[in-house]
Amino acid sequence: MAKVGINLTTGSIQQKETIVGIDLGTTHSLVAIVHPETRKPMALREIDGFSLVPSIVHFDEYGNPTVGNLAKEKLIAAPHRTIYSVKRLMGKSYKDIGNHTIDFAYRLIDDNTDSLIKVQVDDRFFTPIELSSEILKELKKRAEHILKTPVTKAVITVPAYFNDAQRQATRDAGKLAGLDVLRIINEPTAASLAYGLGVKPEEEKTIAVYDLGGGTFDISILHITNGIFEVLATHGDTYLGGDDMDSLIATYWRNQFSSQKEFDEKIAAQEIRLIAEKAKKYLSIHSTFEANLNGISLRLDLETFNSLVAPLIDRTLSSCKQALADAGLKTTEIDEVVLVGGSTRVPAVKTAVEQYFEKKPHDELNPDEVVALGAAVQADILAGNNTDMLLLDVTPLSLGIETMGGLMDVLIPRNSKIPTKAGRQYTTQKDGQTGIRISVFQGERDLVENNRKLAELTLKGIPAMPAGLPKVEITFLIDADGILKVTAKELRTGIEQSIDVRPQYGLTDEEVEQMLLDSLTNAQSDIQLRALTEATTEGYQMIETTERFLSKHRQYLIEDEIKQTESYIAELKKAIEAKNKDAIQKATEALNDTSRPYAERVMDVALKEAMKGKKII
Ligand code: ADP
Ligand code: MG
Repeated sequence: MAKVGINLTTGSIQQKETIVGIDLGTTHSLVAIVHPETRKPMALREIDGFSLVPSIVHFDEYGNPTVGNLAKEKLIAAPHRTIYSVKRLMGKSYKDIGNHTIDFAYRLIDDNTDSLIKVQVDDRFFTPIELSSEILKELKKRAEHILKTPVTKAVITVPAYFNDAQRQATRDAGKLAGLDVLRIINEPTAASLAYGLGVKPEEEKTIAVYDLGGGTFDISILHITNGIFEVLATHGDTYLGGDDMDSLIATYWRNQFSSQKEFDEKIAAQEIRLIAEKAKKYLSIHSTFEANLNGISLRLDLETFNSLVAPLIDRTLSSCKQALADAGLKTTEIDEVVLVGGSTRVPAVKTAVEQYFEKKPHDELNPDEVVALGAAVQADILAGNNTDMLLLDVTPLSLGIETMGGLMDVLIPRNSKIPTKAGRQYTTQKDGQTGIRISVFQGERDLVENNRKLAELTLKGIPAMPAGLPKVEITFLIDADGILKVTAKELRTGIEQSIDVRPQYGLTDEEVEQMLLDSLTNAQSDIQLRALTEATTEGYQMIETTERFLSKHRQYLIEDEIKQTESYIAELKKAIEAKNKDAIQKATEALNDTSRPYAERVMDVALKEAMKGKKII
């Protein structure tokens, strides 16, 4: 039963729950949705018209948090209780941050260099997950206020280079904020989606996403085929962004002034940076900036600004060059260039990117909103509102179950697009078997012992039947969030058992890669092993049925038949012991050939006896 919600304020009927897209940025965060009527992605704006929420959390002296612009105002007055750039700390240990701790005005705890970082505010300690969750709570609250409906589901973006721990930390932050994080997607992927790139299933494109934000620069080279986004290369600088432009301007003004001592006395460092940022933004559309601060006149023209930031832009271009080299591509092989991040509003940045890639980059959307817009597009796809659109993720490794002899039986092969569903029928091996154990594995090897066990479930209560009679259907279903649901159902009785598994959990990209590599290196021996195991299993089954037959129907057989059969059984057992696949197959066949004629004869007799006095309808 589908639920239909009615929005009490507007009276409109909402067929489906809104899933929001969230850009959880280093300096700014925001929420976007796909508008239910126009079907266009749009950033959510408060009455003031602003969509961006500064990613800053301030705790007052009682420990109550405020987030966003109100928190930003406290940066100067209460630096020790005002936390910014928390994204840089996600999933990191003190050791990871190294000498960059100096960049943080608040206190980082380093009790143990390998343990995850914590932030101290007065006598309380916060993990980056908790701090990010404060930002997400604020975004959720805003969205609910603007949409006038509860918001519980979200797609959140992360940089393409984020590792598994950082992605998991982001997911956990969402959960802590009361959000069901349906998907974590890469920021460059989101930006491409916002421009509708890769939306058509048959489209094949190579895209460069140039993202210059407040404190970080990222270049990502993506390849899209069949609606699947593959990250070919990423490069960047985690300490290069718009903030550095502000510093350059501040330093320039200070150096211009005759007495630097007097300058420092009249203007606080934080203050000059704020004014510098204002000048930078002003120069994105004007040619000269002029202001007067505490009796000091500050002036900057576009030409001077351009020469100040030129080295910085050059550094981003070196990164682009490196990323292209890593991807093995020439600039001419890039089909589209997408600009992301507030700092790409700087005209000199746009020109430099256009000249480098020899192509006009996409800048039609707000560069500081484009990632959230793309997350909203993805959310819309997940909400099922846009069935023509592609689904983006693929399973990196095959999923299957263990069958006789420890073999991997793949139900969903690697690189399957998700969501996906697959099912297969299995049966019992022993007479009267009432339970069946299903072990779920992930990996490419033929023997499950070389793969990774994900889960196990037991289907109990199968009515006692001869081996091979129960029909157990095992279904694998991977939902859009990558969660695997395994269901086992005995078809005659309808008894059912299911379990949820998170296949990706705890696997780093490197581990996935290693598992794939292993399967390639071992392919040859794996194939041989699989053939041997299959032959052995078949041989054992043959022995078992024959022995059962012998003990049950001995009276109908002549001595010669029994002798011959027993000698073939012995031969087959020897071949199995010797692990000789060809010999096993030969002996199994021989045993089958000897027993078939008398088995048919006996069955005829047995059938006649059984039917005495009975009629077949
Ligand atoms: P992040 O993704 O790192 O949170 P954003 O994409 O929001 O960052 O970019 C923030 C940066 O963009 C800041 O340094 C800000 O000063 C800069 N910025 C915003 N608007 C403009 C503009 N009009 N001109 C130049 N820089 C701008
Ligand atoms: Mg950003």
